[in-house]
Amino acid sequence: DVSVSRVATAEHGVFGCRSVLLATGARTAAELLPGLRVPDFHAVTVLHHTAPAAPTEDPTLLLESDPGGPVAHTVVMSAVDPSRAPAGRPLITSTVLGTPPDDAERRVRKHLATLYGTSTDEWELLALHHTPDAAPAMRPPHDVRRSVRLLAGLYVCGDHRATATPQGTLASAHRAADALLSDLGVRLPDGARVAEEAA
Ligand SMILES: Cc1cc2nc3c(=O)[nH]c(=O)nc-3n(C[C@H](O)[C@H](O)[C@H](O)COP(=O)(O)OP(=O)(O)OC[C@H]3O[C@@H](n4cnc5c(N)ncnc54)[C@H](O)[C@@H]3O)c2cc1C
Repeated sequence: DVSVSRVATAEHGVFGCRSVLLATGARTAAELLPGLRVPDFHAVTVLHHTAPAAPTEDPTLLLESDPGGPVAHTVVMSAVDPSRAPAGRPLITSTVLGTPPDDAERRVRKHLATLYGTSTDEWELLALHHTPDAAPAMRPPHDVRRSVRLLAGLYVCGDHRATATPQGTLASAHRAADALLSDLGVRLPDGARVAEEAA
């Protein structure tokens, strides 16, 4: 429960405040502040495999140019960051954009065999995460600088107020913090404004 002067939390009681900046995904933002628009979303599915041997030691993201997919991009994550991999085993992380096919794992493994040029018959699925609301859709005409100041004391930021990327998210956060401080009469140092423009 959120208002300009009060935030009620599930586990930590109620906080009084002078301003609230809401920094959640679009769906939660609209639950906490009814009336906010909930956009359509793009789904993302991430699959983690291990294998008897890494298909490559190259820590490079492999992009599929054919939109037929199902894999959009894949990387040997253990070559990028060994601490993420199961002990002594490679970790291959692959991404499917949009609604995955019913037999996603089988088709992904087949596609990975082509992408890496190796058999994936012995590969083992460690985890499959499907996120239906991974990224807000940016259908044209898309406003990349949606308002972050709902009213004096109430601000909202996130990928749904800018581009659906971490970069857009941060840019919207800069705009919201800027508006909040400005409404409170706090002067921002010049560097902070430069950072917002750069984002
Ligand atoms: C699987 C996946 C892959 C992606 N891949 C890419 C990519 O390759 N390139 C790209 O540009 N973007 C990608 N994105 C999108 C990108 O991650 C998001 O656009 C960005 O993280 C959005 O940031 P945000 O701060 O708006 O929301 P979030 O990162 O979702 O942060 C919102 C925060 O609010 C918290 N929260 C929610 N509800 C409450 C509540 N009631 N009270 C308190 N806290 C709450 C959540 O725990 C979370 O920490 C991907 C997203 C996903 C899910």
